[in-house]
Amino acid sequence: MKSGKMFGRKGFALLCVLCAPVVSAFSLDREAFTVANYELNLQIEPDQHRLGVRGKITLRNDSPTLQKVAVLQISSSLGWRSIKAGDKPVQFLTQPYASDIDHTGALSEAIVTLPQAVAPKGTIDLEIGYEGVIVLDATRLTRIGTPDDAAESTDWDQISPSFTAVRGAGYVAWYPIATESANLSEGNDLFEVLGRWKHRESAVGMHLQVGVTSNGFGTEPPQVLFDGIRCLQKTYTLEQNRGTLSADCQFGQFPVSNASLVIANYLWMERPNTEVWYLRGHDVPARAYSDAVEKAAPLITEWFGIPHEKAQTADLPDPNAAPYESGALLLTPLASTDSKLASLAAAHQLTHAAFLSFRPWIEEGLAHFAQALYLEHDRGRQAALDYMGLHRAAFTEAEKPTTFPRSEDEVNRSLVNTTSEELYRSKAMCVWWMLRDMVGDAALKKALAAYRPEGDKEPSYVQRLIAAQTPRDLEWFFDDWVYRDRGLPDFKVESAFPRKAMTNAFIVTITVANLGSAGAEVPVIVKFAGGEVSKRLEVRARDKATIRVETPSAPQEIVVNDGSVPESDLSNNSFRIQETDTAK
Ligand SMILES: [Zn+2]
Repeated sequence: MKSGKMFGRKGFALLCVLCAPVVSAFSLDREAFTVANYELNLQIEPDQHRLGVRGKITLRNDSPTLQKVAVLQISSSLGWRSIKAGDKPVQFLTQPYASDIDHTGALSEAIVTLPQAVAPKGTIDLEIGYEGVIVLDATRLTRIGTPDDAAESTDWDQISPSFTAVRGAGYVAWYPIATESANLSEGNDLFEVLGRWKHRESAVGMHLQVGVTSNGFGTEPPQVLFDGIRCLQKTYTLEQNRGTLSADCQFGQFPVSNASLVIANYLWMERPNTEVWYLRGHDVPARAYSDAVEKAAPLITEWFGIPHEKAQTADLPDPNAAPYESGALLLTPLASTDSKLASLAAAHQLTHAAFLSFRPWIEEGLAHFAQALYLEHDRGRQAALDYMGLHRAAFTEAEKPTTFPRSEDEVNRSLVNTTSEELYRSKAMCVWWMLRDMVGDAALKKALAAYRPEGDKEPSYVQRLIAAQTPRDLEWFFDDWVYRDRGLPDFKVESAFPRKAMTNAFIVTITVANLGSAGAEVPVIVKFAGGEVSKRLEVRARDKATIRVETPSAPQEIVVNDGSVPESDLSNNSFRIQETDTAK
């Protein structure tokens, strides 16, 4: 499959390899090496959109076999200048390589013949040099039909006189990477390639020396932020209106693949739980945003513990730019963030600052779950259900089986290993909400407090933490929703028999069928003149369950599901009770 993809697109790679027979294309394993350390010296000239890089990288052979050839890739708008090993130039060929891991839709690839073969787990240091320009470029999106405006507000990375921001792999390969081609028009291909790269690059070191020279700088130099942390400014000189800034940036604890470098004339605001870098004139929205973070902080701390870092936010000048998150860092246009969005973003960001997991359905699922919790806390349960309803629309489409019954392949694409954002964000949020409705706030909070990312060695870890806090059997639930993807439930009120009890009360016996292949515990609401009663009922996949509910006057309608359980068909969820039924 790898080699198929290598040649599948545009024929670039094939053509170039044909003219360069030194390298056998079929033995090229692009993901054999991982960059284990980066020591880079960046020279940035915003006025010319230029980036020049010299530095040293350490390659580690992560494959099980000896490797004599290494592949290094940078954005296609940059070009390789030199590659050396131990002071001696090494042989390398360069070629364009189509891949949507970069905003230009292509990479400049260097195929390097190493001076000696590197054994599995072995490392080799290379000295590298590359340069070029990074301008606004949304080719990878416009060529698959995204309208220009939307494409540019997604791929907003660029080096420019007024504002410079380059996110790493997945947006702009401004540092060398080594990946198979990623294709945005092939489902989740990009996320899969990126996911593998991030996994290989976890716990990688990156140290940058950054020099920035511009005629546009005044007496105050701009700030250099690396993954939301301000880099140490070493020197700043201003000669004949030409400012030269040098800074030192050290990467923190997160995967280096998230590395984003931002250079702008920021002002700074700090509060107990937040740090905001904002552009001149944006002090009102910056204050509003930090207020939102501080307001959400007590609830998030109660659920997910004390944040281990501040929520870092950096402003974007384009009011239409799509917000971007990397851990507790959020890049967002503050001027166009309204207060409702600010609270949601704040709850999400703080959850990342408080709770770490390398599993997306836990890390992102909980951050979205926190948004629903915040809405409920602020405006009631219905506001949270409405919000989850918006997300449900996103993933019910992704959940539609392509075959009936679901193929084994589809069933095995579980929440644990999915690369689909709709599932690990939206569906996971609903899964956490259902778990909370089933086991209660106190038990779920205790289970989350016991979570240790280093202890999460198998998918069942979370289930065991929750099981320690509740007598309920949750194996079936995890099996239907988390370990396997059995799709969604489909509830139907099959029958409802009311009978008059003593005094004026009624007892109605309700049978709910679940026509879907995932079970759930679902609210059953009985409406009567002047009110309603809600009870919860567990209905396993392709099964039925019965419940008896007492009402103070004649029941009129039964509704199954208040919107808290994702379902494939909501049209069969209500049942009207005829007057004559209640006569007896
Ligand atoms: Zn997130």
